[in-house]
Amino acid sequence: MEYLVSIAGYTESLADKNNYEAAPNKKDTAIFPYDYKVQLDKNNFEIIKATPYGNTITKDLALACLKAEQLGKGKQTDMLCISFSSTDYVGHSYGPRSVEVEDVYLRLDKDLEELISTLNATVGKDNYVLFLTADHGACDVPAHLMDVKIPGGYISEDELTKNIKTHCMNQFGDSLVLSVINQQVFLNEAKIMAMKLNKLVVEHVLVNYLLTVKGVAEAYTSEVLRNNDFTEGTFKHLIQKGYNHVRSGNVAFSYNPAWMEYHNKGTTHGASYSYDTHVPLLFFGSGIPKGSTVKKVNIVDIAPTISMMLHMSFPNGTTGKPLEEVIGK
Ligand SMILES: [Zn+2]
Repeated sequence: MEYLVSIAGYTESLADKNNYEAAPNKKDTAIFPYDYKVQLDKNNFEIIKATPYGNTITKDLALACLKAEQLGKGKQTDMLCISFSSTDYVGHSYGPRSVEVEDVYLRLDKDLEELISTLNATVGKDNYVLFLTADHGACDVPAHLMDVKIPGGYISEDELTKNIKTHCMNQFGDSLVLSVINQQVFLNEAKIMAMKLNKLVVEHVLVNYLLTVKGVAEAYTSEVLRNNDFTEGTFKHLIQKGYNHVRSGNVAFSYNPAWMEYHNKGTTHGASYSYDTHVPLLFFGSGIPKGSTVKKVNIVDIAPTISMMLHMSFPNGTTGKPLEEVIGK
């Protein structure tokens, strides 16, 4: 794969060759051109997802669904949800300021163009509504930020897990930890009961320990996340919204901005910070007035907005509000 446009056309990126990108299978440096025939292992198509072709294949599948299922042809409204996830995988490997990320979006534009012109031709210009958003943003590559004297850093999940276990061992005579994953600590509750320990005390001890770890910004016990009501618009509130008393860990913690468990090439997501939570939201199609806003809206507003357009009740778990700018009220 060559550049889609001349290199001068990639105006939003760092130089193609830099120290912050992870090269794919069988390639030494993360620079164009990419020869996927060479990089593809026999009977292992894993690499496709981290190329623009993952999106193009997804677009082809969507077009096939549109045709074979006769979407938009019947009396009832049809809904087609498409996840273009190659932008995510390319972003992880190369970071948001790479030529590769700019390239995957330029190519996604072309895939979207084909999708929209097919909708216009088959369903008709005034007979569909399209919305486009993202499930998260991404952090700059911390190694890049640190090189330009912006704070950031890396944490080893293995080392953190080991230290948490040692701390529990010293405090309670047992490691008590089942796993440390996704910025949560899961405790062995059966063992805590068997050892007649107070779970709340164990959680508190862990929170106090985590707050001493370099790179950790905040930590909360499950008790706090279950019973407090944090103010909307704060990072605490976002962590609380992600908490589920059945599925979540006993302690949740967050890192400082641009700190992550990762290798020093590429990047990841999963933080409450704006680089991760600020995503695009576009509505387009029948009855949608032209316009834009910088007003803060939330992804949970999409479902009630679409429900209003369809004159139907909101989904059971709706917490968002219909976007008046979009429904033209
Ligand atoms: Zn991801």
